[in-house]
Amino acid sequence: MKVTAISVFPEYFSPLELSLIGKARTQSLIDFRSINLRDYTADNHHSVDGTPYGGGAGMVMMAEPWGKAIDSILEKDEEIDLIILSPAGSKFNQRRAEQLSRASHLVFACGRYEGIDARVGDYYRGVKGVRVHEISIGDYVLNGGEVAALVIIEAVSRLIPGVIGNPASLDEESHNEVGALEYPTFTKPAKWRDLDVPEVLLSGNHGQIKKWRQEEAKRRSNLSQ
Ligand code: SAM
Repeated sequence: MKVTAISVFPEYFSPLELSLIGKARTQSLIDFRSINLRDYTADNHHSVDGTPYGGGAGMVMMAEPWGKAIDSILEKDEEIDLIILSPAGSKFNQRRAEQLSRASHLVFACGRYEGIDARVGDYYRGVKGVRVHEISIGDYVLNGGEVAALVIIEAVSRLIPGVIGNPASLDEESHNEVGALEYPTFTKPAKWRDLDVPEVLLSGNHGQIKKWRQEEAKRRSNLSQ
């Protein structure tokens, strides 16, 4: 899968060199690159923002550098999923991660300031081969879309075949079904401080263990509703 992040802080994406995603990149399972939006500006100051029409505080990211940056991607790739990060977008969840994991090229538009001129999304909704997704990672406001892009890239990447060493790890995870959480997990030692591992997990009785895990998963899921 190709992943491109457009940002005024391309350095924000250096964590993608680490851990499973870093490994997936060396194995060419994920082809990631970041683009500096300022490289698509025309003035000496490399300006990307302007005052908002209608007045108000803060600055808005201008459509033109975004248009040029996204067009440069479309020159090489005619099919992209363009993800515009915004607190006003539809809420990201595991279903959306599964859907995006089937894409061939994810392009993240990481806003800053008061966000991106709304015409960018409107324009690319009308361009053939571009699927526009306006996505929020939760009901809070971040300074920029980079952290949101990292969250989505991590959730999506682990669903790409080959990225997680043991694919069975994905079978019983929280959120595989809407609202369903995984059971609690424990490892050695069997007693830590005053706390014991539930006895059933030490019993070797696989039927009982399965039943206990199902009940615990249900209990946790109900608690989180
Ligand atoms: N003025 C905007 C509003 O109230 O909706 C907030 C802009 S925020 C300071 C700047 C950028 O951070 C946004 O354009 C978006 O790219 C990103 N951002 C902030 N919160 C986000 C969230 N919850 N999910 C996704 N992106 C977010």
